[in-house]
Amino acid sequence: MKGSGVEFFRRAVGALLIGLVVAVSGFAQLIPDLVITNADVRTMDARNPRADTIVVAGGRIVAVGKKDSPAWTDGDRTVRIDAGGRLVLPGFDDAHVHFTAIGRQFFSLDLRPAATPAETLAKLEFYTRFLPAGRWILGGGWTAANLPSKEKIDAATRAHPVFLYDATGRNAFANALALKFARIDEATKDPPGGAIERDAAGTPSGILTGAAVGLVRRFAPLDQTDDTAALAETASSYAAAFGVTSVQDMSADDNAELYRRLLQTGKLKTRIYDCASLSEWAKTKRDRPKTDDPFVRQGCLKGIADGDADSTRGLSDEIAAADKAGWQVMVHAIGPRAVAQVLSVFEHVARTNDPRDRRFRVEHAHGFRPADLRRFGNSEIIASVQPALFADAAGRGLDPLRSLIDVKATLAFGSDATMIPIDPLAGIAAAVETNPPRQRLSVEEAVGLYTKGAAFAEFAENEKGVIAPGRFADLVILSDDIFSIPPARIRQTRVLATIVGGRVVYSAD
Ligand SMILES: [Zn+2]
Repeated sequence: MKGSGVEFFRRAVGALLIGLVVAVSGFAQLIPDLVITNADVRTMDARNPRADTIVVAGGRIVAVGKKDSPAWTDGDRTVRIDAGGRLVLPGFDDAHVHFTAIGRQFFSLDLRPAATPAETLAKLEFYTRFLPAGRWILGGGWTAANLPSKEKIDAATRAHPVFLYDATGRNAFANALALKFARIDEATKDPPGGAIERDAAGTPSGILTGAAVGLVRRFAPLDQTDDTAALAETASSYAAAFGVTSVQDMSADDNAELYRRLLQTGKLKTRIYDCASLSEWAKTKRDRPKTDDPFVRQGCLKGIADGDADSTRGLSDEIAAADKAGWQVMVHAIGPRAVAQVLSVFEHVARTNDPRDRRFRVEHAHGFRPADLRRFGNSEIIASVQPALFADAAGRGLDPLRSLIDVKATLAFGSDATMIPIDPLAGIAAAVETNPPRQRLSVEEAVGLYTKGAAFAEFAENEKGVIAPGRFADLVILSDDIFSIPPARIRQTRVLATIVGGRVVYSAD
């Protein structure tokens, strides 16, 4: 950055700080909640692309600058993070997920692939990191070869009852907490046709055979997937572990109220743009909800196009009505006919309804005809693309990303989790390594589409997607500089910390 630019930036930040301080406290000093120093900050903000210090107050970024540039004084509660020179990016915004389904993945633990007790233990520890405390870890597939000792399992699962069948389905293992629920101790007698295995001292070893399995099974929930709050909390913790600070939920389930309750109890770590079903909406045509909550926003409807000419009229009528009512409409389209159909409907509605900033979206936009490429560039329709979803092992199969950018199409990146893992670095790597090479994006472009591009796609580009004063303090610290390492190593890069609204919601250690 040039000298005059720095000066201007300092003055602008100074003015903002003074404005904030005067407005909030009347004191002549700002006390930050969080200060990150010694960071390799890539802001994704073209006006101020690099920095090493970020100052956060009230959940938002208040200053971004070079060492000594933003002035602040620590308070008693100021959290300081020395980033050790690591890369800091805006938190990732995944433009296409099925949110509670991410939590549902933790419903059943399959131990069949675990070859050793250490692998079983690692899987159990992984579950305990994301499942809310108190939730049962259920599943099966253990054998004498891969089951760790009860002591080791108990040490790893202090907050979670564990009940796991063996590979035959006839015997089970229960940890200390599960045995406690079932009131099984030294004094418990074996039931007819079953045995509570014990060690030399007579203490239950956790292994239950035959009819003894039922002693614990009665207390374990058969199905935890109806606990949507727990699913969402699990999904939120899991997303945070991948540096995802915002998601756009494409599931038809309408969970906004539930997400808000989670937020009130401090358990929601993810900002959610919660979309409802277009066809469901068409039955009631309810008004678009107010959407100023910084964590849980609504206002989007998701439809599906099959490319069948018979469905075009109905889809067009629904979209026109929803658009008139102020909703943002996004439609799933895979294949040349479906994408062409959605483009035609969007173009028609945009021509017919009053002009406005509507940001229609084609979800997936996969497999479109070369002849339709320019329709993305010539319109304001957003192509919501999931690079890691469609690329095969050789990096082929992805739509022509470079061509889309060349025609000035508007893009946003996401994962479509749980179709594939929510990991944004896998999506970035897929876009950077796609074949043929002439369709590859730069790391900068790919990160931009997973941050500010996705924020734009949900009408939130003034709140997040770049690291700049006034934006939400949603940040991710990575183990490696993905801008300089070979692209093949991007997938191995780890998330060291995830910060949402100035709060550290995930830490690798
Ligand atoms: Zn999807």
